[in-house]
Amino acid sequence: MPKYVVRNLILFFVVLVGLGVLFSTASLTGDKPKEIDLSTLAAQIGRDEVKSIEIRGNELRIALKDGTAQEAVKESGDSLVSALRDFGVEPEKLQAVELAVKEPGGFSYWMSVLLPIILPFLLIGGFIYLMMRNVQGQNMRAMMFGQSSAREVPKDGKNRVTFKDVAGVKEAKEELTEVVDFLRNPKKFSALGAKIPKGVLLMGSPGTGKTLLARAVAGEANVPFLHISGSEFVEMFVGVGASRVRDLFAKAKKTAPCIIFIDEIDAVGRQRGAGLGGSHDEREQTLNQILTEMDGFEPNAGVIVLAATNRPDVLDPALLRPGRFDRRVVIDPPDLNDREEILKIHAKKKPLAADVNLRKLAERTPGFSGADLANLMNEAAILAARKDKTEVTEAMLLDSVEKVMLGPERKSYVMNDHEKKVTAYHEAGHALVAHFSKHADPVHKISIISRGFAAGYTIKLPTEDKRMHTKSEFIDDIAVMLGGYVAEKDIFNELTTGASSDLRKATSLAKDMITRFGMSDVLPPRTYGEHEEMIFLGKEIHSQRDYSEKVAQQIDEEVAALIQNGKAQAEKIIREQRAKMDKVVEVLLKNETIEKEEFAALMA
Ligand code: ADP
Ligand code: MG
Ligand code: ZN
Repeated sequence: MPKYVVRNLILFFVVLVGLGVLFSTASLTGDKPKEIDLSTLAAQIGRDEVKSIEIRGNELRIALKDGTAQEAVKESGDSLVSALRDFGVEPEKLQAVELAVKEPGGFSYWMSVLLPIILPFLLIGGFIYLMMRNVQGQNMRAMMFGQSSAREVPKDGKNRVTFKDVAGVKEAKEELTEVVDFLRNPKKFSALGAKIPKGVLLMGSPGTGKTLLARAVAGEANVPFLHISGSEFVEMFVGVGASRVRDLFAKAKKTAPCIIFIDEIDAVGRQRGAGLGGSHDEREQTLNQILTEMDGFEPNAGVIVLAATNRPDVLDPALLRPGRFDRRVVIDPPDLNDREEILKIHAKKKPLAADVNLRKLAERTPGFSGADLANLMNEAAILAARKDKTEVTEAMLLDSVEKVMLGPERKSYVMNDHEKKVTAYHEAGHALVAHFSKHADPVHKISIISRGFAAGYTIKLPTEDKRMHTKSEFIDDIAVMLGGYVAEKDIFNELTTGASSDLRKATSLAKDMITRFGMSDVLPPRTYGEHEEMIFLGKEIHSQRDYSEKVAQQIDEEVAALIQNGKAQAEKIIREQRAKMDKVVEVLLKNETIEKEEFAALMA
């Protein structure tokens, strides 16, 4: 039961009890006659003290000869005369008393008669009333469904974001500056007959600043910003999404010039027809409505639709047609310089210690997105506050890097000595294979402190940002991933569950090499498995098979060969370098972590 129903019910009963109390006190007010019991009455009659008795139902009003009034109650259904006789009153004495039988009356009497009849009706009535109210509330909400729940960020909002707050993403900014110009000065463009794009699609992996950039456009142009997330269109009821879209565009036209920002548009903009089950009908309708609306407004109406997605590959081609989202802006993951810039932006209000070098930090964080970097700065500040320091030091920042990468340290996860030894050999295995494989990234840190799900970890960092990867790198990577497994197997002649995530990663890399990158020597260079997505019961089903059973077998063999090679490579290194491995393990067991320099010294 919803909370408010319970509250109403409670209120209802409180009122009822209140009324009851009121009634009972109402009959108590006034000069109350003394109440006596029947035996006393019998005795009084015996003593000839009673003048008259008035009988109303079961109530007796007794007038004594000395003028005092009394009250008594008799058993219901029992006549007074027989009751008094049972109390031993002689009939002669009783005859001397005036007995008057009257219709029962009075408020409490009527209440006692009526309440049992009325109360159920009252309760039922009250209950029905509550239900009605409830249903009405739901109706109201159902009516609201069709309205878009877009949040409007007013143009002079306190948290106005501009391009200054977005580091890197140069090309995207240039592209969007055009949009800003148009929103600021639409006449300049329309006078020349130029059509401004209606829609701009921002594409980039999660956390690269798509949402931030969209807000910056609104901030730069100083126009209102209607923000809605694609998933908000999709509701339980069919047709709601479409009507929300209509409402959103109507609202936008009223506030023009303005920006509509549809975040995570892939939630509604997936390819139509792809998917099983009921949910795609609703999505299709919503998507159709978006397309219709975008076609419907004039190019220079002053409404620009920005949309963001991290899955451009699943978008419906109709969305990308000219006249809709014809501008597409790719937002790359930040490179070294961008990372430094982003760190600078997020370090602004945080007092940094003199030893902090943001460039160095940027070097330590390849693959971090803007959101990761913001998170890293924030974690470091939290750490400083928790340690009651006034500055954020380099050590805190480096600690936060690992926290963002691997999850928080799990101090409570205590390993016994054997587990520690196994973990140390496992990590040393990774590190050694990485060190002695030509194409693997250099080792930055080894640790047997557990973080997140990992019992220990080895951090390797590329010497420079890489956009492309080679087959040799992948081959070495597989060997490094298997380094932990091989070390455990070689040293302890026994395996643990600790290698499972390494094995999963190695398998998926090997599979990708064969089926996506054409890195097989045997199979012709093509892709295997259509990476088209289907949605069935909310679950994505990947890769339909587009090759024969025979090829499937070859793929399996190729993947197995890659893994076997990697294993052999790891075994060779670990067996040859056993002495160095023992040294690394010794230091690990003593200090728990080994930094880059110390590792290099051990390897020398
Ligand atoms: P997306 O929408 O691409 O998933 P967001 O725009 O929500 O990512 O980014 C999340 C946060 O990360 C932002 O609020 C911002 O603090 C930070 N961030 C991401 N990219 C940048 C950037 N290029 N410059 C500054 N901060 C960034
Ligand atoms: Mg976003
Ligand atoms: Zn491992």
